[in-house]
Amino acid sequence: MKRTFSIWLIVACFTTAIAWRAGAADTPPAKPPPPPKVPPTLSESVLKKIEAAVPATAAKPKKARRILVFWRCEGFFHGDGIAVANKALELMGQKTGAFQVDITDDYAAFDNLAKYDAVVLNNTTQLKLTEERAQALLSFVRGGKGIVGIHAATDNFYKWPDGAKMIGGLFDGHPWGGGGTWAFKVEDPGHPINKAFPNATFKFKDEIYQFKEPYTRADRRVLVTLDLSDPATGSQKGMKRADNDYAVAWIKKEGQGRVFYCGFGHGANVFQDAAMQQFLLNGTQFALGDLEADASPK
Ligand SMILES: [Zn+2]
Repeated sequence: MKRTFSIWLIVACFTTAIAWRAGAADTPPAKPPPPPKVPPTLSESVLKKIEAAVPATAAKPKKARRILVFWRCEGFFHGDGIAVANKALELMGQKTGAFQVDITDDYAAFDNLAKYDAVVLNNTTQLKLTEERAQALLSFVRGGKGIVGIHAATDNFYKWPDGAKMIGGLFDGHPWGGGGTWAFKVEDPGHPINKAFPNATFKFKDEIYQFKEPYTRADRRVLVTLDLSDPATGSQKGMKRADNDYAVAWIKKEGQGRVFYCGFGHGANVFQDAAMQQFLLNGTQFALGDLEADASPK
């Protein structure tokens, strides 16, 4: 009896092993999880350039300001751009006293927005906000607070019309690639936010988006556009807009609140530049309500 059982056990194990091996051959190996999206550590030389570009002064804040800098990415991950903008915002707040920042990619931050004066969407992509958190963000802004969008902040709310309208447009390709240097026109150079730029036109290296609806000039002040009179800038493949209106940055009202969108910010170079940091600071202070600026359409 014992011997029969032992033979049975050996046969059973052998059969199971064969079946397991066969099964293993049919099942593709489990996909390794995607690498975590973590902004890279900045080198000493990049850090020095960011520090050197931080504006010396800011508009006087009406009270102590706190900003949530949020960089979650479910789609494309602009790691270098995110790292540099996070650091630039932190340093400009420290140096000028305009605000302090909390930097995170944790959605739970949207459960406690009341302590903030503005939210910065730093290159977020394809955000998956719950209905509750989306409404919290909308109420936060409409109730009188601020929102700042950097570059890919327009690559999020395809299925949330109120969110897309709040930020002011949706990504529709980038005919102007990140390797190129493109021409820009400062609309209304005397505008308080545009005082960041020393000249009415300039060239700059960055990836620039084209926008589809709900982009419109009817509800905002456009600050910077592409300068299509520059031959390379005006002749890129994939330009779709019949009106040739390629805005890059704007401000607008949303309820009682304020919106600043800065299409610059794809590359690590952007916020190592003093004029770009000043532009980001000015727009952020507008969003906070500390820098008066006309957001009416023109
Ligand atoms: Zn980009």
